[in-house]
Amino acid sequence: MPPIYDKPTTDKYDFVVIGGGSGGSASSRRAVSYGKKVAVVEATHYLGGTCVNVGCVPKKIMWHAADLQDKIKHQAPGYKFTGIENPKFDWAAFKPQRDAYIRRLNGIYANNFEKEGVEFHEGFGKLLSPNTVEVTRPDGKGKYTLQADNICIAVGGQPIIPTEEEVPGASLGIDSDGFFDLAEQPKRVAVIGAGYIAVELAGIFNTLGTETHLIIRGETVLRTFDPILQETLTPWMEKTGLHLHKSSHVTKVEGVRGQTLTVHTDKGEKIEVDVVLWAIGRKSSTQNLGLEELGVKLDKKGDVVVDEYQNSTVKGITSIGDAQGKWLLTPVAIAAGRRLSNRLFGPEKFKDDKLSYENIPTVVFSHPTIGTVGLTEPEARKKYGDDAIKIYKSSFRALYFSMVDEEHKEPTVYKLICAGPEERVVGVHILGLGSDEVMQGFAVAVKMGARKQDLDDTVAIHPTSAEELVTLR
Ligand code: FAD
Ligand code: NDP
Repeated sequence: MPPIYDKPTTDKYDFVVIGGGSGGSASSRRAVSYGKKVAVVEATHYLGGTCVNVGCVPKKIMWHAADLQDKIKHQAPGYKFTGIENPKFDWAAFKPQRDAYIRRLNGIYANNFEKEGVEFHEGFGKLLSPNTVEVTRPDGKGKYTLQADNICIAVGGQPIIPTEEEVPGASLGIDSDGFFDLAEQPKRVAVIGAGYIAVELAGIFNTLGTETHLIIRGETVLRTFDPILQETLTPWMEKTGLHLHKSSHVTKVEGVRGQTLTVHTDKGEKIEVDVVLWAIGRKSSTQNLGLEELGVKLDKKGDVVVDEYQNSTVKGITSIGDAQGKWLLTPVAIAAGRRLSNRLFGPEKFKDDKLSYENIPTVVFSHPTIGTVGLTEPEARKKYGDDAIKIYKSSFRALYFSMVDEEHKEPTVYKLICAGPEERVVGVHILGLGSDEVMQGFAVAVKMGARKQDLDDTVAIHPTSAEELVTLR
């Protein structure tokens, strides 16, 4: 592990970033590439933040494990593979291997800092003035301050768990961080929530063979997504054996952590499980940073209020990534961080650089995956009016599933939302095999302002699922 700084090395830094996650790392490395003096203050020993340690990376690895299990168990027999009747995933053996990979990534982050000249200060960062960051070192090793012309708040966020007043026994449950601590695969689990994390983690558990209960407040999962995605994924999840408890609110959790827990719902259900996992959203880690004392405005949720250039309400203090509450995605934090440093420290051509928060593509690692960019149908109808909207959709089974038994043929649905006489593509929503990989290219097209005709003019790639998007009638 390269050195961790435990005191200032200069009277004044050009840039101090609080938080060494996706956004903080990207922004600091870009700033140092312009010859600036840069320090990152990170509260934990491990760089990389949520994405690397308890987010995208270990989650995607677990998704791959689940996907593999599905292929071996439900798809390979259709292709006449034999001798694999009872595949078993060894969670307990896999976890240390996954953790070791994450530690390697932490090391790569630290090495990059050292190679490029970003100072890594391990400690809790707090603002004492618009130019002063106090670093409280771990394990009571003392405090010191860093002076900087520019300070960026890149502290990310943390999972929300209801209070004991809201839901008695809620603290018996774990959150997504706790998911990555599980040393063994639980036999029975209740996941509460209906967003990205609930869908992804419940999908992993269910596909790997855990008895999985998903408790949602509405009738469908992913209620902020296009209706076609909600209406296709929700019944498919049930078909794959997941126990979906719709229109249900958890009223209390009872039992002993590590033993049996009982989840009570307002419908009178008592669901017995080994693990309860809350996935009901996240909040910014902006507490105890000294922000409001300095006049940095936070909104009701605690997110840093920023303008389109990531400036907070106090000059010299900026914020990027999850801390500013818009589009909680790693590439968004990275892109905003790099552009911020371009603007603050880069050449003249970047003096107005900023991230456009329009048409951000995103994927949900469900089974099968979802990809989406742009407006949902209800959003497009509201923005442009019903008469200006034209919808193209298709629903089919990927060729891959032609050899797989009926029970396990996954659905594919594709939807294009076009607006105006030119039929500009303002939304693409897809679910089905490979949607996570298909989406990126179509996101480029939408960003460039593609019209339906441009898609039609593109020669299809055959035989693929994605070709359907350029042949929709
Ligand atoms: P973070 O990466 O959270 O980094 C913030 C850092 O600040 C942390 O290291 C923290 O320790 C540190 N910190 C906090 N307070 C202080 C302080 N006072 N002083 C010093 N340091 C401090 N996004 C995707 O794009 N794709 C995915 O597949 C995906 N999957 C996800 C799965 C899960 C389970 C979760 C929880 C998130 C997922 N995300 C995904 C979201 C993604 O992880 C975040 O959007 C991204 O990590 C945000 O980056 P950030 O730099 O804003 O914050
Ligand atoms: P989300 O905001 O995606 O979803 C949380 C959902 O939980 C809400 O939409 C709501 O759905 C439900 N909910 C909220 N409060 C309660 C409650 N009190 N009781 C029961 N259900 C409740 O949050 P997540 O925690 O899933 O994820 C946080 C963010 O992390 C995501 O928004 C995403 O930006 C990022 N992320 C990205 C991933 C990716 O890129 N693949 C993967 C994982 C996370 P409803 O209103 O329907 O009840």
